[in-house]
Amino acid sequence: MRSKLYHHSIFDATDHVPSWWVQSAPAFTATDESLPPEVVEVAIIGGGYTGLSTAYHLAKFHNIQSHVLEAGPIGWGASGRNGGFCAPFPTALGFQDLQRKYGDDETRRFVASQVEAVHRVREIARDENYSIDSQGEGVWCVAHSPKVYRALEDAAAGYQHFGIKSTVLSGDAFGAEVHHSTEQFGGMWQEAGFGLHPMKAARGLAQAAQTAGAKLHEKCTVTAWQKQGAVHVLETEKGVIRANSVIIATNGFSPEGLMPPITKNVVPLLSNIIVTRPLSEDEVAAQNWQTETPIYNTRNLLFYYRMLPGNRFLFGGRGDMTGTPRAGEKMRALLTRQLGEVFPAWKTAEITHFWRGLVCMARNMTPAMGRLPDDPSVLFALAYHGDGVAASHGAGQLLADILAGRKMETDIPLPMRGPPQNLPIPSLKRWYLRASLGYYAFQDFMSR
Ligand SMILES: Cc1cc2nc3c(=O)[nH]c(=O)nc-3n(C[C@H](O)[C@H](O)[C@H](O)COP(=O)(O)OP(=O)(O)OC[C@H]3O[C@@H](n4cnc5c(N)ncnc54)[C@H](O)[C@@H]3O)c2cc1C
Repeated sequence: MRSKLYHHSIFDATDHVPSWWVQSAPAFTATDESLPPEVVEVAIIGGGYTGLSTAYHLAKFHNIQSHVLEAGPIGWGASGRNGGFCAPFPTALGFQDLQRKYGDDETRRFVASQVEAVHRVREIARDENYSIDSQGEGVWCVAHSPKVYRALEDAAAGYQHFGIKSTVLSGDAFGAEVHHSTEQFGGMWQEAGFGLHPMKAARGLAQAAQTAGAKLHEKCTVTAWQKQGAVHVLETEKGVIRANSVIIATNGFSPEGLMPPITKNVVPLLSNIIVTRPLSEDEVAAQNWQTETPIYNTRNLLFYYRMLPGNRFLFGGRGDMTGTPRAGEKMRALLTRQLGEVFPAWKTAEITHFWRGLVCMARNMTPAMGRLPDDPSVLFALAYHGDGVAASHGAGQLLADILAGRKMETDIPLPMRGPPQNLPIPSLKRWYLRASLGYYAFQDFMSR
Protein backbone atom coordinates (compact mmCIF):
# COMPACT_ATOMS: atom_id res chain seq x y z
CA MET A 1 0.00 0.00 0.00
CA ARG A 2 2.71 2.50 -0.77
CA SER A 3 2.70 5.46 -3.12
CA LYS A 4 3.96 4.62 -6.61
CA LEU A 5 5.05 8.20 -7.11
CA TYR A 6 8.50 7.94 -5.47
CA HIS A 7 11.32 5.44 -5.07
CA HIS A 8 10.60 2.82 -2.39
CA SER A 9 13.48 4.08 -0.22
CA ILE A 10 11.46 7.23 0.53
CA PHE A 11 8.96 5.00 2.37
CA ASP A 12 11.48 2.79 4.15
CA ALA A 13 10.55 3.43 7.79
CA THR A 14 13.10 1.05 9.30
CA ASP A 15 14.99 3.95 10.84
CA HIS A 16 15.00 7.74 10.92
CA VAL A 17 16.56 9.73 8.09
CA PRO A 18 20.03 11.02 9.12
CA SER A 19 18.88 14.48 10.13
CA TRP A 20 20.53 16.92 12.50
CA TRP A 21 17.32 16.69 14.53
CA VAL A 22 17.52 12.98 15.21
CA GLN A 23 21.18 13.38 16.19
CA SER A 24 20.39 16.17 18.66
CA ALA A 25 17.18 15.00 20.35
CA PRO A 26 16.85 12.80 23.43
CA ALA A 27 15.80 9.23 22.59
CA PHE A 28 12.19 8.09 22.84
CA THR A 29 10.75 4.61 22.63
CA ALA A 30 7.05 3.92 22.87
CA THR A 31 6.31 1.52 25.69
CA ASP A 32 3.50 -0.47 24.01
CA GLU A 33 4.97 -3.25 21.94
CA SER A 34 1.97 -5.54 21.60
CA LEU A 35 -1.45 -4.84 20.15
CA PRO A 36 -4.59 -5.41 22.23
CA PRO A 37 -6.76 -8.21 20.75
CA GLU A 38 -10.14 -6.64 21.58
CA VAL A 39 -11.95 -3.83 19.79
CA VAL A 40 -10.45 -0.45 20.63
CA GLU A 41 -12.34 2.80 20.59
CA VAL A 42 -10.00 4.81 18.38
CA ALA A 43 -7.11 3.82 16.11
CA ILE A 44 -4.94 6.59 14.71
CA ILE A 45 -2.84 5.80 11.63
CA GLY A 46 0.35 7.89 11.70
CA GLY A 47 2.60 8.89 14.59
CA GLY A 48 3.51 12.44 13.55
CA TYR A 49 2.17 15.66 15.06
CA THR A 50 -1.37 15.13 13.72
CA GLY A 51 -1.72 11.65 15.19
CA LEU A 52 0.10 12.49 18.42
CA SER A 53 -1.79 15.73 19.01
CA THR A 54 -5.09 13.93 18.45
CA ALA A 55 -4.06 11.16 20.85
CA TYR A 56 -2.82 13.67 23.43
CA HIS A 57 -5.98 15.81 23.36
CA LEU A 58 -8.28 12.76 23.39
CA ALA A 59 -6.59 11.31 26.46
CA LYS A 60 -5.88 14.51 28.36
CA PHE A 61 -9.12 16.41 27.87
CA HIS A 62 -11.74 13.79 26.98
CA ASN A 63 -10.53 10.73 28.82
CA ILE A 64 -10.58 8.72 25.57
CA GLN A 65 -7.77 6.27 25.04
CA SER A 66 -6.55 5.87 21.48
CA HIS A 67 -3.96 3.64 19.80
CA VAL A 68 -1.45 5.35 17.50
CA LEU A 69 -0.17 2.97 14.79
CA GLU A 70 3.10 4.23 13.30
CA ALA A 71 4.98 2.49 10.48
CA GLY A 72 8.39 3.67 11.73
CA PRO A 73 9.60 5.04 15.01
CA ILE A 74 7.51 7.90 16.42
CA GLY A 75 8.16 11.12 14.45
CA TRP A 76 9.62 9.18 11.51
CA GLY A 77 7.63 11.20 8.92
CA ALA A 78 7.78 14.92 8.22
CA SER A 79 7.20 15.74 11.89
CA GLY A 80 10.65 14.60 12.95
CA ARG A 81 12.55 16.05 9.99
CA ASN A 82 11.02 19.40 8.96
CA GLY A 83 12.62 22.86 8.98
CA GLY A 84 11.16 23.73 12.37
CA PHE A 85 9.25 26.81 11.21
CA CYS A 86 6.30 26.92 13.56
CA ALA A 87 4.23 29.29 11.48
CA PRO A 88 0.60 29.70 10.41
CA PHE A 89 -1.17 29.21 7.06
CA PRO A 90 -0.96 25.68 5.68
CA THR A 91 -2.14 26.73 2.26
CA ALA A 92 -0.76 27.75 -1.12
CA LEU A 93 -3.48 30.41 -1.39
CA GLY A 94 -2.85 34.03 -0.42
CA PHE A 95 -5.21 36.04 1.78
CA GLN A 96 -6.96 37.56 -1.23
CA ASP A 97 -7.53 34.16 -2.86
CA LEU A 98 -8.98 32.86 0.42
CA GLN A 99 -11.25 35.88 0.79
CA ARG A 100 -12.49 35.54 -2.78
CA LYS A 101 -13.18 31.84 -2.38
CA TYR A 102 -14.49 31.64 1.20
CA GLY A 103 -15.45 35.21 2.14
CA ASP A 104 -13.90 37.49 4.74
CA ASP A 105 -15.55 35.90 7.83
CA GLU A 106 -14.45 32.34 7.06
CA THR A 107 -10.98 33.52 6.08
CA ARG A 108 -10.77 35.40 9.37
CA ARG A 109 -11.84 32.24 11.24
CA PHE A 110 -9.20 30.22 9.39
CA VAL A 111 -6.49 32.80 10.11
CA ALA A 112 -7.44 32.97 13.81
CA SER A 113 -7.40 29.17 14.10
CA GLN A 114 -3.93 28.97 12.59
CA VAL A 115 -2.46 31.71 14.78
CA GLU A 116 -3.99 29.88 17.76
CA ALA A 117 -2.34 26.66 16.55
CA VAL A 118 1.07 28.38 16.63
CA HIS A 119 0.47 29.37 20.27
CA ARG A 120 -0.86 25.89 21.08
CA VAL A 121 2.49 24.29 20.17
CA ARG A 122 4.28 26.35 22.82
CA GLU A 123 1.44 25.93 25.33
CA ILE A 124 1.46 22.13 25.18
CA ALA A 125 5.25 22.04 25.55
CA ARG A 126 5.04 24.40 28.52
CA ASP A 127 2.12 22.55 30.19
CA GLU A 128 3.75 19.15 29.68
CA ASN A 129 7.20 20.40 30.55
CA TYR A 130 9.18 19.38 27.46
CA SER A 131 11.71 21.42 25.55
CA ILE A 132 11.20 22.37 21.91
CA ASP A 133 14.23 24.74 21.70
CA SER A 134 12.01 27.64 20.74
CA GLN A 135 13.96 30.31 18.78
CA GLY A 136 13.13 33.79 17.50
CA GLU A 137 9.81 35.61 17.25
CA GLY A 138 7.65 35.72 14.13
CA VAL A 139 8.80 34.85 10.61
CA TRP A 140 10.63 36.86 7.93
CA CYS A 141 9.79 36.68 4.25
CA VAL A 142 12.56 38.01 1.99
CA ALA A 143 12.13 39.47 -1.50
CA HIS A 144 14.34 37.37 -3.81
CA SER A 145 14.38 40.08 -6.47
CA PRO A 146 13.69 43.82 -6.65
CA LYS A 147 10.58 43.12 -8.75
CA VAL A 148 8.77 41.39 -5.91
CA TYR A 149 9.43 43.97 -3.18
CA ARG A 150 5.95 45.51 -3.74
CA ALA A 151 4.39 42.12 -3.03
CA LEU A 152 5.84 42.28 0.49
CA GLU A 153 3.96 45.50 1.17
CA ASP A 154 0.74 43.91 -0.06
CA ALA A 155 1.36 40.85 2.10
CA ALA A 156 2.03 43.02 5.16
CA ALA A 157 -1.27 44.83 4.58
CA GLY A 158 -2.98 41.42 4.43
CA TYR A 159 -1.52 40.39 7.78
CA GLN A 160 -2.53 43.68 9.34
CA HIS A 161 -6.08 43.31 8.01
CA PHE A 162 -6.32 40.13 10.05
CA GLY A 163 -4.84 41.70 13.19
CA ILE A 164 -1.33 40.23 12.84
CA LYS A 165 1.47 42.74 13.39
CA SER A 166 3.69 43.10 10.36
CA THR A 167 6.48 45.38 9.17
CA VAL A 168 8.42 45.77 5.91
CA LEU A 169 12.10 46.70 5.67
CA SER A 170 13.85 47.99 2.55
CA GLY A 171 16.79 45.96 1.23
CA ASP A 172 19.27 48.30 2.94
CA ALA A 173 17.49 48.22 6.28
CA PHE A 174 17.07 44.44 6.13
CA GLY A 175 20.76 44.04 5.29
CA ALA A 176 21.70 46.18 8.28
CA GLU A 177 19.27 44.60 10.78
CA VAL A 178 18.80 40.96 9.71
CA HIS A 179 21.31 39.60 7.16
CA HIS A 180 23.11 40.17 3.89
CA SER A 181 22.69 37.87 0.92
CA THR A 182 22.71 37.99 -2.86
CA GLU A 183 18.97 37.30 -2.90
CA GLN A 184 17.62 39.88 -0.49
CA PHE A 185 15.87 43.01 -1.70
CA GLY A 186 13.81 43.77 1.39
CA GLY A 187 11.95 41.72 3.97
CA MET A 188 8.55 41.46 5.61
CA TRP A 189 8.20 40.32 9.21
CA GLN A 190 4.99 39.05 10.74
CA GLU A 191 4.62 38.26 14.40
CA ALA A 192 2.97 34.80 14.34
CA GLY A 193 5.64 32.12 14.49
CA PHE A 194 8.99 30.99 15.83
CA GLY A 195 11.58 28.28 15.22
CA LEU A 196 11.66 24.96 17.05
CA HIS A 197 13.44 21.61 17.18
CA PRO A 198 11.04 19.33 15.26
CA MET A 199 12.13 16.01 16.75
CA LYS A 200 12.09 17.32 20.31
CA ALA A 201 8.58 18.62 19.59
CA ALA A 202 7.48 15.21 18.24
CA ARG A 203 9.02 13.16 21.02
CA GLY A 204 7.86 15.55 23.72
CA LEU A 205 4.31 15.38 22.40
CA ALA A 206 4.56 11.58 22.19
CA GLN A 207 5.68 11.38 25.80
CA ALA A 208 2.86 13.70 26.87
CA ALA A 209 0.28 11.63 24.95
CA GLN A 210 1.61 8.42 26.46
CA THR A 211 1.60 9.87 29.98
CA ALA A 212 -1.99 11.02 29.48
CA GLY A 213 -3.00 7.45 28.58
CA ALA A 214 -2.62 7.07 24.81
CA LYS A 215 -1.03 3.87 23.51
CA LEU A 216 1.71 4.30 20.93
CA HIS A 217 2.72 1.41 18.67
CA GLU A 218 5.91 1.86 16.66
CA LYS A 219 6.88 -0.32 13.67
CA CYS A 220 3.20 -1.01 13.17
CA THR A 221 2.36 -0.35 9.51
CA VAL A 222 -1.30 -0.69 8.59
CA THR A 223 -1.16 -2.94 5.54
CA ALA A 224 -4.90 -3.50 4.90
CA TRP A 225 -8.15 -1.92 6.04
CA GLN A 226 -11.67 -3.24 5.71
CA LYS A 227 -14.98 -2.66 7.41
CA GLN A 228 -16.88 -5.54 9.02
CA GLY A 229 -20.29 -4.25 10.10
CA ALA A 230 -19.64 -1.15 12.18
CA VAL A 231 -16.08 -2.15 13.03
CA HIS A 232 -12.88 -1.25 11.18
CA VAL A 233 -10.46 -4.15 10.82
CA LEU A 234 -6.89 -2.96 10.38
CA GLU A 235 -4.20 -5.46 9.48
CA THR A 236 -0.81 -4.46 10.77
CA GLU A 237 2.68 -5.94 10.93
CA LYS A 238 1.95 -6.78 14.55
CA GLY A 239 -1.48 -8.33 14.09
CA VAL A 240 -5.08 -7.28 13.55
CA ILE A 241 -6.62 -4.39 15.41
CA ARG A 242 -10.36 -3.63 15.44
CA ALA A 243 -11.51 -0.11 16.01
CA ASN A 244 -14.80 1.77 16.27
CA SER A 245 -13.24 4.92 14.82
CA VAL A 246 -10.16 5.47 12.70
CA ILE A 247 -8.20 8.67 12.19
CA ILE A 248 -6.05 9.12 9.10
CA ALA A 249 -2.95 11.11 10.07
CA THR A 250 -0.53 10.07 7.35
CA ASN A 251 -0.11 13.36 5.40
CA GLY A 252 2.62 13.17 2.71
CA PHE A 253 3.43 9.54 3.51
CA SER A 254 -0.16 8.36 2.88
CA PRO A 255 -0.24 5.08 0.97
CA GLU A 256 -2.55 5.75 -1.97
CA GLY A 257 -4.69 2.68 -1.38
CA LEU A 258 -5.19 3.24 2.36
CA MET A 259 -8.51 5.10 2.12
CA PRO A 260 -8.79 6.15 -1.52
CA PRO A 261 -11.30 9.02 -1.22
CA ILE A 262 -8.71 10.77 0.92
CA THR A 263 -5.32 9.34 0.08
CA LYS A 264 -5.57 9.08 -3.71
CA ASN A 265 -6.46 12.77 -3.97
CA VAL A 266 -3.42 14.21 -2.20
CA VAL A 267 -0.10 14.88 -3.88
CA PRO A 268 3.14 14.30 -1.95
CA LEU A 269 6.07 16.53 -2.79
CA LEU A 270 9.71 16.16 -1.74
CA SER A 271 11.43 18.90 0.23
CA ASN A 272 15.18 18.86 1.00
CA ILE A 273 17.29 20.24 3.83
CA ILE A 274 21.02 20.69 4.37
CA VAL A 275 22.74 21.72 7.62
CA THR A 276 26.28 23.09 7.91
CA ARG A 277 28.92 22.48 10.53
CA PRO A 278 28.88 25.15 13.28
CA LEU A 279 29.91 28.47 11.72
CA SER A 280 32.49 30.60 13.49
CA GLU A 281 31.52 34.03 14.85
CA ASP A 282 33.56 35.60 12.03
CA GLU A 283 31.71 33.58 9.40
CA VAL A 284 28.36 34.56 10.91
CA ALA A 285 29.43 38.21 10.91
CA ALA A 286 30.54 37.97 7.26
CA GLN A 287 26.86 37.73 6.22
CA ASN A 288 25.91 40.21 8.96
CA TRP A 289 23.61 37.50 10.34
CA GLN A 290 21.67 38.84 13.33
CA THR A 291 18.52 36.82 13.91
CA GLU A 292 17.17 33.56 15.33
CA THR A 293 13.85 34.10 13.57
CA PRO A 294 13.09 31.68 10.69
CA ILE A 295 13.23 33.09 7.15
CA TYR A 296 11.85 32.06 3.77
CA ASN A 297 11.94 33.89 0.47
CA THR A 298 9.44 34.88 -2.20
CA ARG A 299 10.45 32.31 -4.83
CA ASN A 300 7.60 29.94 -5.71
CA LEU A 301 10.13 27.13 -5.34
CA LEU A 302 11.30 28.80 -2.19
CA PHE A 303 14.37 28.67 0.00
CA TYR A 304 13.79 28.47 3.75
CA TYR A 305 16.57 28.94 6.27
CA ARG A 306 17.43 29.45 9.95
CA MET A 307 20.47 29.79 12.17
CA LEU A 308 20.24 26.96 14.67
CA PRO A 309 21.56 27.01 18.23
CA GLY A 310 25.36 26.55 18.05
CA ASN A 311 25.49 28.44 14.71
CA ARG A 312 24.71 25.55 12.42
CA PHE A 313 22.90 26.92 9.37
CA LEU A 314 19.83 25.10 8.04
CA PHE A 315 18.93 25.68 4.37
CA GLY A 316 15.95 24.05 2.66
CA GLY A 317 14.52 23.92 -0.82
CA ARG A 318 12.53 21.92 -3.28
CA GLY A 319 13.07 18.23 -3.91
CA ASP A 320 13.20 16.12 -7.06
CA MET A 321 10.47 14.16 -8.81
CA THR A 322 11.63 10.58 -8.32
CA GLY A 323 13.10 10.14 -4.84
CA THR A 324 15.86 7.82 -6.05
CA PRO A 325 19.11 7.84 -4.02
CA ARG A 326 20.94 9.19 -7.11
CA ALA A 327 18.47 12.07 -7.46
CA GLY A 328 18.96 12.71 -3.72
CA GLU A 329 22.71 13.11 -4.22
CA LYS A 330 22.10 15.54 -7.09
CA MET A 331 19.70 17.57 -4.95
CA ARG A 332 22.21 17.69 -2.11
CA ALA A 333 24.80 19.10 -4.53
CA LEU A 334 22.29 21.58 -5.99
CA LEU A 335 21.16 22.84 -2.58
CA THR A 336 24.78 23.16 -1.44
CA ARG A 337 25.57 25.22 -4.53
CA GLN A 338 22.47 27.37 -4.02
CA LEU A 339 23.41 28.03 -0.38
CA GLY A 340 26.84 29.23 -1.56
CA GLU A 341 25.25 31.48 -4.20
CA VAL A 342 22.87 33.11 -1.73
CA PHE A 343 25.36 33.31 1.19
CA PRO A 344 28.81 33.51 -0.47
CA ALA A 345 30.69 33.67 2.85
CA TRP A 346 29.45 30.15 3.66
CA LYS A 347 30.14 28.66 0.24
CA THR A 348 32.81 26.30 1.53
CA ALA A 349 31.28 25.46 4.92
CA GLU A 350 31.05 21.68 5.22
CA ILE A 351 27.57 20.23 4.92
CA THR A 352 27.23 17.73 7.74
CA HIS A 353 23.62 16.67 7.19
CA PHE A 354 21.30 16.23 4.21
CA TRP A 355 17.87 14.69 4.31
CA ARG A 356 14.50 14.94 2.61
CA GLY A 357 10.88 14.12 3.18
CA LEU A 358 7.38 14.47 1.83
CA VAL A 359 5.04 17.39 2.25
CA CYS A 360 1.44 17.04 1.12
CA MET A 361 -0.58 19.12 -1.34
CA ALA A 362 -4.20 19.05 -2.52
CA ARG A 363 -5.83 20.35 -5.69
CA ASN A 364 -7.77 23.06 -3.84
CA MET A 365 -4.47 24.14 -2.21
CA THR A 366 -5.82 24.08 1.36
CA PRO A 367 -5.72 21.36 4.05
CA ALA A 368 -8.38 18.66 4.26
CA MET A 369 -10.02 17.84 7.55
CA GLY A 370 -13.23 16.27 8.80
CA ARG A 371 -15.23 13.06 8.69
CA LEU A 372 -15.55 10.85 5.64
CA PRO A 373 -18.88 11.87 4.04
CA ASP A 374 -20.18 8.28 3.78
CA ASP A 375 -18.61 6.97 7.00
CA PRO A 376 -18.50 9.40 9.95
CA SER A 377 -16.43 6.91 11.98
CA VAL A 378 -13.42 7.81 9.80
CA LEU A 379 -11.79 11.18 10.44
CA PHE A 380 -8.82 12.74 8.71
CA ALA A 381 -6.51 15.77 8.73
CA LEU A 382 -3.79 16.24 6.13
CA ALA A 383 -2.50 18.29 3.16
CA TYR A 384 -0.77 21.08 5.05
CA HIS A 385 1.15 22.31 2.00
CA GLY A 386 4.57 22.35 3.63
CA ASP A 387 3.38 24.41 6.61
CA GLY A 388 2.07 21.75 8.91
CA VAL A 389 4.02 22.08 12.16
CA ALA A 390 1.51 24.35 13.87
CA ALA A 391 -1.49 23.34 11.74
CA SER A 392 -1.13 19.64 12.59
CA HIS A 393 -1.01 20.36 16.33
CA GLY A 394 -4.18 22.46 15.94
CA ALA A 395 -5.85 19.87 13.72
CA GLY A 396 -5.23 17.14 16.31
CA GLN A 397 -6.87 19.23 19.00
CA LEU A 398 -9.91 19.92 16.85
CA LEU A 399 -10.22 16.30 15.67
CA ALA A 400 -10.17 15.18 19.31
CA ASP A 401 -12.90 17.69 20.22
CA ILE A 402 -15.02 16.53 17.27
CA LEU A 403 -14.55 12.84 18.07
CA ALA A 404 -15.45 13.50 21.70
CA GLY A 405 -18.63 15.28 20.59
CA ARG A 406 -17.55 18.65 22.01
CA LYS A 407 -17.29 20.29 18.63
CA MET A 408 -18.92 19.85 15.25
CA GLU A 409 -17.48 19.60 11.78
CA THR A 410 -18.83 23.11 11.22
CA ASP A 411 -16.25 24.27 13.77
CA ILE A 412 -13.59 23.50 11.18
CA PRO A 413 -12.95 26.75 9.29
CA LEU A 414 -14.36 26.42 5.77
CA PRO A 415 -11.02 26.65 3.89
CA MET A 416 -9.91 23.38 5.49
CA ARG A 417 -13.22 21.55 5.93
CA GLY A 418 -13.95 18.33 4.04
CA PRO A 419 -11.98 15.82 1.94
CA PRO A 420 -9.33 16.94 -0.54
CA GLN A 421 -10.80 18.00 -3.86
CA ASN A 422 -10.81 15.12 -6.35
CA LEU A 423 -7.92 15.04 -8.79
CA PRO A 424 -9.35 14.69 -12.32
CA ILE A 425 -7.19 11.63 -13.06
CA PRO A 426 -5.27 10.58 -9.91
CA SER A 427 -3.00 8.27 -11.91
CA LEU A 428 -1.55 11.35 -13.61
CA LYS A 429 -0.15 12.77 -10.35
CA ARG A 430 3.41 12.61 -11.61
CA TRP A 431 2.46 14.78 -14.60
CA TYR A 432 0.58 17.29 -12.48
CA LEU A 433 3.71 17.55 -10.35
CA ARG A 434 5.99 17.98 -13.34
CA ALA A 435 3.72 20.60 -14.88
CA SER A 436 3.44 22.64 -11.69
CA LEU A 437 7.17 22.46 -10.90
CA GLY A 438 7.95 23.62 -14.46
CA TYR A 439 5.38 26.41 -14.19
CA TYR A 440 6.74 27.65 -10.85
CA ALA A 441 10.37 27.43 -12.01
CA PHE A 442 9.42 29.52 -15.06
CA GLN A 443 7.64 32.10 -12.88
CA ASP A 444 10.69 32.33 -10.60
CA PHE A 445 12.91 32.86 -13.63
CA MET A 446 10.63 35.62 -14.96
CA SER A 447 10.47 37.38 -11.59
CA ARG A 448 14.24 37.99 -11.43
C1 LIG B 1 11.83 18.51 4.60
C2 LIG B 1 10.57 19.09 5.19
C3 LIG B 1 10.58 20.37 5.73
C4 LIG B 1 9.42 20.90 6.28
N1 LIG B 1 9.49 22.10 6.91
C5 LIG B 1 8.40 22.59 7.55
C6 LIG B 1 8.50 23.78 8.32
O1 LIG B 1 9.58 24.33 8.51
N2 LIG B 1 7.36 24.27 8.89
C7 LIG B 1 6.16 23.65 8.75
O2 LIG B 1 5.16 24.14 9.27
N3 LIG B 1 6.06 22.48 8.06
C8 LIG B 1 7.15 21.95 7.49
N4 LIG B 1 7.06 20.74 6.85
C9 LIG B 1 5.77 20.04 6.84
C10 LIG B 1 5.43 19.45 8.20
O3 LIG B 1 6.56 18.76 8.71
C11 LIG B 1 4.24 18.48 8.07
O4 LIG B 1 3.15 19.18 7.50
C12 LIG B 1 3.79 17.91 9.39
O5 LIG B 1 4.86 17.36 10.10
C13 LIG B 1 2.72 16.84 9.12
O6 LIG B 1 2.54 16.08 10.28
P1 LIG B 1 1.69 14.75 10.17
O7 LIG B 1 1.67 14.14 11.51
O8 LIG B 1 0.37 15.05 9.56
O9 LIG B 1 2.48 13.85 9.12
P2 LIG B 1 3.88 13.09 9.26
O10 LIG B 1 4.72 13.68 10.31
O11 LIG B 1 4.46 12.97 7.91
O12 LIG B 1 3.46 11.68 9.80
C14 LIG B 1 2.75 10.75 9.04
C15 LIG B 1 3.13 9.38 9.57
O13 LIG B 1 2.24 8.40 9.03
C16 LIG B 1 2.96 7.18 9.01
N5 LIG B 1 2.26 6.26 8.12
C17 LIG B 1 2.01 6.39 6.81
N6 LIG B 1 1.35 5.30 6.36
C18 LIG B 1 1.19 4.47 7.40
C19 LIG B 1 0.60 3.18 7.57
N7 LIG B 1 0.02 2.54 6.52
N8 LIG B 1 0.61 2.60 8.79
C20 LIG B 1 1.19 3.24 9.86
N9 LIG B 1 1.77 4.47 9.75
C21 LIG B 1 1.77 5.07 8.54
C22 LIG B 1 4.33 7.59 8.50
O14 LIG B 1 5.30 6.64 8.87
C23 LIG B 1 4.54 8.95 9.16
O15 LIG B 1 5.38 8.89 10.30
C24 LIG B 1 8.20 20.16 6.28
C25 LIG B 1 8.19 18.88 5.74
C26 LIG B 1 9.35 18.34 5.21
C27 LIG B 1 9.32 16.96 4.66
